[in-house]
Parts: sequence; structure tokens; C-alpha cells
Amino acid sequence: MTVARILSEKGREVFTTQPHRTLKEVIDLLAGKGIGAVVVSDASMSVLGILSERDVVRVIAQHGAAALDDQVSRHMTPKVTTVTRGDTIDHVMQTMTDGRFRHVPVVEDGRLIGIISIGDVVKRHVNMIDSERQALREYIATA
Ligand code: AMP
Repeated sequence: MTVARILSEKGREVFTTQPHRTLKEVIDLLAGKGIGAVVVSDASMSVLGILSERDVVRVIAQHGAAALDDQVSRHMTPKVTTVTRGDTIDHVMQTMTDGRFRHVPVVEDGRLIGIISIGDVVKRHVNMIDSERQALREYIATA
């Protein structure tokens, strides 16, 4: 299964923020949308960074709640690992495991076109294993 297929099933909506926004605005977005990360982008949808709930927890632990007034650019991860439509689900899983993160933006021609979370990957992976197990059962039963 490819990233393109996952996006066609889940949609291409990505919640984004801008570098000058505050952490408070981001946590309102995370909580309001029930998501774990936002991509930091500019008007042309270039990826400038990523900020996840883990970053927010780290910042508050280190600097206290006053840091919620800080700008996103101060605390985001600026070096973002991305995938493309043609990458496989195995590649995405390996990328998340190697990088120890749970979100990977999808980029095409330098522009953000979607995001894959670990939840999206696990859901499809479990479905694939179930389908294979069912096919094997049917094969054995009819052999
Ligand atoms: P997460 O597991 O996605 O909550 O993110 C854990 C840490 O990795 C946070 O510091 C994020 O800013 C960072 N992060 C999340 N996704 C990516 C990514 N695709 N590329 C680089 N860093 C990321």
C-alpha cells in the first residue's frame, strides 16, 4: 500500500500554523481538532517545521506556562522528515521508527499535500494482516 492510497482513503486535510503564531493558538488547534501535531507552513504551503503535543509538553516542563505566549518558530522542529505519494506504508513505518516520531507530512513539488499519523499506519497495517490471515485460512480450507 502506498501513501497515495492512504491519502485517498483518509483525505488530504492537514491542519497548519504559521511561525509567528503562539503556542497557545497551537494547543487550541490541537485540542479543538483532536490531533497530535500541526505542520508549520507558509502561504505557498512549503513545510517550515512541525510542532507536536510532545513539544508543547517539553516546553511547559522546561519553561512553565508563560511559554505559551512564545512564537511557534521558537519551539518547532525545523528539520522535518517528509514522504511522497509513491512511498510505501513499510517505508513510512520505518521512517517513524527510525526518527521516533508519530507524524509525517506528505510533500509533492515542495508543497504540503497531506499528513500520515502513526494511527493511520497502524490501522492499515492491521487491516492488511487481517486480510492476509483470512486469505490463508480460505486457501487452507479449500486445499
Ligand atoms: P511526535 O511523536 O510526532 O509527537 O513528535 C515527537 C518529536 O518529533 C517532536 O519534537 C516533533 O516536533 C518531532 N517530529 C514529529 N514529526 C516529525 C517529522 N516528520 N520530522 C521531524 N520531526 C518530527
